[in-house]
Amino acid sequence: MEDNCIFCKIAKGDIPSSTIYEDENFRAILDLGPASKGHALILPKKHAENLFELPDELAGKAMVLAKKLAKQLQDGLHADGVNVVQNNGQAAGQTVFHFHMHLIPRYNGDTVNVAWTPGTLTEEDKKEILALF
Ligand code: AMP
Ligand code: ZN
Repeated sequence: MEDNCIFCKIAKGDIPSSTIYEDENFRAILDLGPASKGHALILPKKHAENLFELPDELAGKAMVLAKKLAKQLQDGLHADGVNVVQNNGQAAGQTVFHFHMHLIPRYNGDTVNVAWTPGTLTEEDKKEILALF
């Protein structure tokens, strides 16, 4: 538990939340500022600042849980789709520095903005990136 980490306190139950799921490793809650009806967050109970700090075992379990809860939200709310989003770092839009996954139900014609403008894969970039792996 990190001092002053709001998601540690919520995940451990020290701060009340609208919990939709809980097990020994995770708590899933409704987002207080939902992008859409049913927007939920999966929080590990153990503090990890981001994906890179999250142990592999928990990362795997988080994805399996995301799959299960996203389906329940989509079916239960009659949504037309769902985004599973996870931000790492301020530049990527992370505002709470305790790993979390967003489950955002999507409805045909909604105005939720989880999008980008496609660019161009240049030969220079491609060469540089492929050389990394
Ligand atoms: P991110 O920008 O990926 O770090 O997402 C942080 C998310 O946490 C936002 O969608 C906020 O609306 C949400 N949030 C922040 N504080 C709370 C809270 N106390 N309870 C529920 N959701 C929260
Ligand atoms: Zn934390």
